[in-house]
Formats: sequence, C-alpha cells, structure tokens
Amino acid sequence: MNWDKLTAVEFTDAVDRCGGVCLVPLGVIEKHGDHLPLGQDPIYIHDVCSLAAEREPAIVFPYYYFGQIHEARHVPGTIALDGKLLLDLLSAVCDEIARNGLDRIVLVNGHGGNSSLLRYFLQLTLAERRDYTVYLSDIPRPAEAARELLRARNDGHAGEIETSAMLHLHPELVKLDVYGDYGQTLGRIAHVREAGLETGIWWYADHPGHLKAEQVEFTAEKGRAIVEGHVNHLARQIRVVREDAVTPELLRDFYERNDAPSNRYP
Ligand SMILES: [Zn+2]
Repeated sequence: MNWDKLTAVEFTDAVDRCGGVCLVPLGVIEKHGDHLPLGQDPIYIHDVCSLAAEREPAIVFPYYYFGQIHEARHVPGTIALDGKLLLDLLSAVCDEIARNGLDRIVLVNGHGGNSSLLRYFLQLTLAERRDYTVYLSDIPRPAEAARELLRARNDGHAGEIETSAMLHLHPELVKLDVYGDYGQTLGRIAHVREAGLETGIWWYADHPGHLKAEQVEFTAEKGRAIVEGHVNHLARQIRVVREDAVTPELLRDFYERNDAPSNRYP
C-alpha cells in the first residue's frame, strides 16, 4: 500500500489493516557510474518496499531521497543536505507518520552512505519521549539464491548487484553502452587504512567516480534473484515488527525511568 496512491478514506482502512507498520524507503540522489540513474537507490528501495508490502501489509512512505552523501559533492547531480537538517527532517517526518496512526516505523535503507547516520538517528530517539517505535532495516547481503548467480569479486557500487537489479526492475534506465572504465579501487590512502585509521575522504580516495565494480555479465535474471531475496527478507521483518510486543513496551519503560533515574535493574 503506497501512501501517496491511497485516498484519505483508503488510508484510514490501511492503517488498521497493517497494524500500524510504515516503511520509509531511504535512498539518496547520487551518481552511480555512467550507466545507472542518479535515483538508483531511492527507486530500488521504494520498489522493494512496495513489493514486500504486497506480501505483508504495511504502508509505504513516498520516495525519501534526502540522505548522507557529502562524499559525492564533486560529481554532477548530487543532493547533499547538511547533516543536522537530515536528522531533524527525518525526526519530523517520523513524528508526522506517527501522528497519522502509524506507530511502528521501519527505516528501510537503500544507500550504504546512510548507515552510520541512521544508526545515530536510532540512538537519538532515546533522547526524548516518542509515542512510536523506530526500527532500521539496513541493506542485507544478497540471498543465497542470488549469491549463486553473482560472479564479480569487486562490486561495491553500481556494479553487478545494482545494475542487475535495475535491469530487472526498470531496464529502460540502464545505459550499458556507456559503462565506465574506472571501477577499480585506487587505494590512495591504503597506508592510512591499513593502520586501522579512518578519514572522511576515504570514499573519494578510493572511488572518486562513484563506481566500484568490475564488468561482468549483468542480467535481469540475477536482478530478479536479488530483488526477490530482499523482498522476502523485508516481508519477514515486517511480520516481526507487527508482532513485536516487547520493544515498544521497553521504550515506554525507558522514557518513564528517564524522568526518575534509579538503581533498579531492570
Ligand atoms: Zn546505490
């Protein structure tokens, strides 16, 4: 059930039917090599959410394409909003979703660069009382059936997985005739990373063209297996969220005890 395609009357019924579960498909607008669309992540993850919600009832929030992507500010088409704004915006959106009766919100991430931000967002939900629960579904490993088909050893961005998935979902958006030849890892700060150090410039150091991939055979068949595995995984998660009686109760308990810290455990 796609939030933006429901009428107001249908929406009320849908909230009841889905047990208060809302999926927020999070992507970002970012270059994906030369051959995939800037909206690869939001398009893919919105499709996965919509398909999973057909199996396990949930309302799917419209495309949410504001995410963490400062590392792509040097390439055309990037939308990189300030980090504090991203956190505030997501918080306000969750408040609005809950105000509409959906109190189990699943952030379904489709962009690797969002992972740290979303985990921090989860921690921030403990800072002040909320009358809803937020869950994070981050990008899973491809399912076993998909892994059996995959061949690339180098595939971290716009490679075999993402290209094949898009060939399955929206083949008209894939331009294989202009596939870039700059997918190898440059390793310009290997000495720093080998010492166990991290820096903000690591992605630019290794993959300035936002392609981390080798050219193997990209097929819609591989894409179908990838999407199918992800949809199954998310449908299972929707069921767990809908039936989860413990987490919302723990949150209530935690917020209450925040007001009067004590030495009682638990
Ligand atoms: Zn991507």
